[in-house]
Amino acid sequence: CGIVGYIGYRDAYPIIVKGLQRLEYRGYDSAGIALYDGQDINLSKTKGKVDDLKKKAESSMSLKGTLGIGHTRWATHGVPNDINSHPHYSNSGDLVIIHNGIIENYDSIKKELINRGYTFSSDTDTEVLINLIEEVKKKENVKLGHAVQIALNQVVGAYAIAVIDKQKPDEIVVAKLGSPLAIGIGENEFFIASDASPFIEFTNNAVYLEDEEMAIIRIGKEIKLRKIKDNSIA
Ligand code: GLU
Repeated sequence: CGIVGYIGYRDAYPIIVKGLQRLEYRGYDSAGIALYDGQDINLSKTKGKVDDLKKKAESSMSLKGTLGIGHTRWATHGVPNDINSHPHYSNSGDLVIIHNGIIENYDSIKKELINRGYTFSSDTDTEVLINLIEEVKKKENVKLGHAVQIALNQVVGAYAIAVIDKQKPDEIVVAKLGSPLAIGIGENEFFIASDASPFIEFTNNAVYLEDEEMAIIRIGKEIKLRKIKDNSIA
């Protein structure tokens, strides 16, 4: 399982696909990608190999975009199939997440969200997390980074996540507990990945998140690192 992401000025698609192929050694049953095309976040995902994803994406979606995230899944909650593959949208369609790891208390959070009117199309713990982030963001009226931070404080489990927001397509929010997450820092561009191999030819400036650490990665800005347990505003 692995995650890859890009935000900058290059086409994200080839960087992400090549990156996912370099992470294939980690093992996986499904793969997927989401790209922001300047208006919407388009998404393609499938059970199978990165080659299957390439075929599907290249025949069914716009490959445009300088912001994107990609995922290889090792199923823990929900069988390996197209719908359970990542990325996952939130109910509004604004937020999109990729996640490696497990949200152990997803069931109680899911019940609460269903009571508030949320619906779920997959059986994953991950779709619960992205809707929890959406609910926190709306209820607390906070920015994405802060919403991720508050949501993760309600979660028990392990994760490397990346979240993007079509209303704010100049940033990627990432967080880590248990699963690895590296950030590659270039000139006016950033890379994220489970290890440095997906971005090694672009930059040798990398930051490895610590457990319980998150980062707000914004174009034209320094990376903001935060302790998830801190209550300071992200
Ligand atoms: N728990 C998530 C799922 O089953 C993520 C699995 C992974 O680490 O790839 O969808």
